[in-house]
Amino acid sequence: MNNPTWDLSIFYNGFDDPALRADIDSIKPLLKKPEEIIESDLPVVAKLEAIVDYDNELSNTIGNIMSFVHLTIAADNANTEALRIQDELGLQMVEVKLASSRIARYLSTIENLDEVIASSEKLSAVAFALKEDAENAQHMVPAHMEKELLRMSLNGADAWSKLKDRLMGTLTCEMNGKSYPLPAIRGMAYDPDPAVRKAAYEAELESYKKVETSMAYCLGCIKGETMTLCELKGYSDPLTMTLAQNRMDHETLDAMWTAIREALPDFRRYMRRKAELLGHKNGLPFYDLFAPMGESSKTYTIDEARELLVKTFTAINPEMGAFIDNAFEQRWIDVYPREGKSGGAFCSGNYQKNVSRILTNFMGSFSDVCTLAHELGHGWHNRCMQRKPQMLTHYPMPLAETASIFNEELLTHEVRKHADEATKLTLLESVLQDATQTIVDIYSRFLFESAVFEARKTHIPSAQECNQMMLDAQMQAYGDGMDPDVRNSGMWVCKGHYYYTGRHFYNFPYAFGHLFALGVYNKYQEEGAAFLPKYDELLASCGSDTIPNVTMTVGIDVRSVDYWRGALKVLRDEVEEFLRLTETK
Ligand SMILES: [Zn+2]
Repeated sequence: MNNPTWDLSIFYNGFDDPALRADIDSIKPLLKKPEEIIESDLPVVAKLEAIVDYDNELSNTIGNIMSFVHLTIAADNANTEALRIQDELGLQMVEVKLASSRIARYLSTIENLDEVIASSEKLSAVAFALKEDAENAQHMVPAHMEKELLRMSLNGADAWSKLKDRLMGTLTCEMNGKSYPLPAIRGMAYDPDPAVRKAAYEAELESYKKVETSMAYCLGCIKGETMTLCELKGYSDPLTMTLAQNRMDHETLDAMWTAIREALPDFRRYMRRKAELLGHKNGLPFYDLFAPMGESSKTYTIDEARELLVKTFTAINPEMGAFIDNAFEQRWIDVYPREGKSGGAFCSGNYQKNVSRILTNFMGSFSDVCTLAHELGHGWHNRCMQRKPQMLTHYPMPLAETASIFNEELLTHEVRKHADEATKLTLLESVLQDATQTIVDIYSRFLFESAVFEARKTHIPSAQECNQMMLDAQMQAYGDGMDPDVRNSGMWVCKGHYYYTGRHFYNFPYAFGHLFALGVYNKYQEEGAAFLPKYDELLASCGSDTIPNVTMTVGIDVRSVDYWRGALKVLRDEVEEFLRLTETK
């Protein structure tokens, strides 16, 4: 690969590009439009059509600016130009939100909204979005307080979130007399050398002490502001609000957790066996959760990863293979960890340009290759959504992980098919490792976040309290699968999801996504290539209806505990296979 950093020039040629300033300056006059349209003498249908046009124009402009600024910051946390524009945009986003609230309130006043929508092709195409907007107007902060509340948030949750980015972006870990960025240290959890894994874990925990007091304030204040807003919007609690935002219901979530709680003993059997194999007597220590197993702890260069991905996905769907190859060729991906770059991995799409950008912290493990497959799945999802009008491309979090995890499934199954016995075991273990994260660890994160919201009713939880809540949540989720003396009290510091200001409980969507993708993958196995067009259509329609309705298009009833049990059985079978392969004779 000639250049392992991403190319953002499709958006702008730099911060001195006049087009960037022109776009930023165009937002303000554009935001006057909704009021003008609503107050005009146009017939209602024409007003709504003009609103749809306005929405597209605004989304395109903001999308381009945001892509450029956010991606720049993700790759370079201290970029002062990007940070300055982010602040400037923050102020404008207040106006953007006010304009969209104005539209939602207007929509909610149209008595014959269904009729109006049905009378126009343009409106019918985005009917779900318009009706949902009108419904959401029932859960808005009072109009007269809205502007000030949004402005206060810039000094509240938004500011805390920025402080968190700053603290974590510059956090270093000291190990053996050397200083490492946190993502590099966390990457060492996959190191074949047990001494490195343990030392990295200790360095990681030690580093959290430098920031945990401030981080606890960031967390407590972001959650506190959310609870105030929740009350103002007329939701009973943050989880109910989150579910509504996700077009999902308690029934669906409860069905999933019920099946997951039943399946926890299966994951623990796997962890205890892995612990034994690594010479531990009391369950798996946290630092060995990601320990590579088996002889063939093969590593990949980025070029080898690219080749494997292109080959695998071309065999399934040539279009998908070409899409992946193009992503590498066109420099969509920022590959390696470095100081000042965000940890983890993500994919960010841009509708107007029909492109995505992917950030990873690639160190060469098979898990890193899976991460690439995962993020490229998001990219494929973004591409499928191009079939729908922009207003229907906002998919809820639990469906956001469908394509990404489906891709991981495809990759691991394909690779396992052609692997020798030793490699098979390694790959199987890697599958279980990942599943343990998306099911068991995610359950611990859900429990932790619930506990933080509970504590925040009375006070801002201190770092010590947060550490203890994290340990308790890990105990409940991992049980005797994990060594009770070697858990990770600082997981709340390093996982950015807890600090999102507009999204909460960004954990259950991963479990949902993983298990839903397994269900979708089962369908693919039953129907073969004939399923792929349905799959693409499923991805395209993720923003076009409620979750239970979207999933029913491929015959999956997410309100049924049995559906989730069926998906989890796939993983239980993998655990049985692992236990069989590792039995001591
Ligand atoms: Zn993802």
